[in-house]
Amino acid sequence: MAWIDTHAHLDAPELAHDVDAVREQARAQGVVHCVLPAVERSNWDSVRLLAHRHGDSYALGIHPLYTGRAQDEDLELLAHTLQQHRADPRLVAVGEIGLDYFVPGLDAERQQRFYRAQLALARRFDLPVILHVRRSADKLLKGLRDIAVPGGIAHAFNGSSQQAQAFMALGFKLGFGGAVTYDRALQLRRLAAELPESAIVLETDAPDIPPHWLYTPAAQRAAGQPQGRNTPVQLPRIAQVLADVRGVPLAALARATTANACAALPRLAGLLRG
Ligand code: ZN
Repeated sequence: MAWIDTHAHLDAPELAHDVDAVREQARAQGVVHCVLPAVERSNWDSVRLLAHRHGDSYALGIHPLYTGRAQDEDLELLAHTLQQHRADPRLVAVGEIGLDYFVPGLDAERQQRFYRAQLALARRFDLPVILHVRRSADKLLKGLRDIAVPGGIAHAFNGSSQQAQAFMALGFKLGFGGAVTYDRALQLRRLAAELPESAIVLETDAPDIPPHWLYTPAAQRAAGQPQGRNTPVQLPRIAQVLADVRGVPLAALARATTANACAALPRLAGLLRG
């Protein structure tokens, strides 16, 4: 079976010392492709070079949690960098961009300005977007209605069924990962069970959002027991949980989610053939 991890921060410091080994382990588990989203200007080169080294793909953008330390001119630099690499088949999206109303202390107006400016860039370069959605689905949807882009992925989706339908109507797929492995995630699991097969893509969000079998509660972490490290190696096991939640065979989920990832990020199809 072949899997696509549509969201893996393989350039993260947690993975720096053995990322090549991790990527090979994931490949041995059937993870044929990873999409590496960027978070700020300082990692645009890293994700591009890593994607080329491993035969993966990447996105370029400014993450909402990094808008506080981003400079205004980073948006111009992003435009310049997208222009520079526009013919690179491994550049598959603008991302990770979006809005976060969960983490305290972020300037809402500044997040909006960066979000909308980057939607405009996606539109100008005819690229889909990879969206960070956290208590922000309605405001993200409003932006997409004002500035139409060629679809993309709402990553780590955890909204309502109506919000899911609204993203789907705009040509988006919804990313599911470690969060769905928790028994107590009842609303998310219901959504994951009810969505049409055509709506779902898989992701680990490595090294964030560990599946339950890697999760260490805060008290135990304080006592010195480390959090398990989440990497693309976990994707097939996360997929098995999702297949069980949906009551479908694992192979069918693999086929559908691969096709969906290619629909959301059209340049992927050429990369998988090549
Ligand atoms: Zn991310």
